[in-house]
Amino acid sequence: MDVMTEKTLQETTCSECGTRLAEGQDREVTADGSFCRSCFERLREQLRQAIETQQRDVPWMRAALGGLAGAALGVLAWWGFTVVTEIAFGLIAVGIGIAVGKGVVLASGEKRSHGLQAMSVAISVAAFAYASYLVNRTFLQRAFAAQGSPGTLPFFPNPELFLSVVKLNLGIMDAVFLAIVVYEAWKIPAPVRLPA
Ligand SMILES: [Zn+2]
Repeated sequence: MDVMTEKTLQETTCSECGTRLAEGQDREVTADGSFCRSCFERLREQLRQAIETQQRDVPWMRAALGGLAGAALGVLAWWGFTVVTEIAFGLIAVGIGIAVGKGVVLASGEKRSHGLQAMSVAISVAAFAYASYLVNRTFLQRAFAAQGSPGTLPFFPNPELFLSVVKLNLGIMDAVFLAIVVYEAWKIPAPVRLPA
């Protein structure tokens, strides 16, 4: 062993309690430093409890309202952008997934669980579909007006009309954007995982 390595080993101390870790002493080396065994086990237990608390007593109603508020923001942002710029820029739709995920987490008081993930995805997909309807509705009405036969489509259509309007502009990029929306909505309320 060269002098340098020997010195480094001798000078290692526990990042939590500062105890010097003798060569060969049981330790846990992490990205955040080296820990003596008892400090590591204690910190790990604290982390485990914190993660457990995050998943317990979820206020579902508040979480749903937060998700819906996020959805409304995301839908309005995308639709507003489209109305103002006259281009349907699907990438902005991705913001729906982020807004819903953050809404769910914030409104539930920083809770994260698989149930919240499922709720976040369901709200986001519905919001993405409704935003697509609103965007296509705007373009359709402009096309009607340009042809000299202005007509309006309802804000809350029946399912049949809804589907036929949403299907109008479907393309491969919509699938990509929807996939990103789902990914963001799923990722944000995910429970923190205990490092192995
Ligand atoms: Zn220690």
